[in-house]
Amino acid sequence: MKKLKAVNLHKCTGCELCVMEAQRQMKKITLQDALIRVFKNKKEDSEYLQYSVELDPQVNTLEIEKIREICPTRVLEIVEERDEL
Ligand code: SF4
Repeated sequence: MKKLKAVNLHKCTGCELCVMEAQRQMKKITLQDALIRVFKNKKEDSEYLQYSVELDPQVNTLEIEKIREICPTRVLEIVEERDEL
């Protein structure tokens, strides 16, 4: 099964375009029940922010190619994974 993964998290700018695309596909105009969430973290001993991207497994029922394509910094990738039995 093809799955969306966040592989280059250090490149994430926190733009949330991936979140918007997922919500658009679900025809939702708010972030309610969002399948992708982006969190901002402040690194200790640094003034820079780091982002983390949380993907609900349900996101894989959407058009994940479009979600991957919309990310301007190529944080997201599609990987082939076997389902656990
Ligand atoms: S994963 Fe890509 S599209 Fe999503 S917030 Fe980060 S940079 Fe933006």
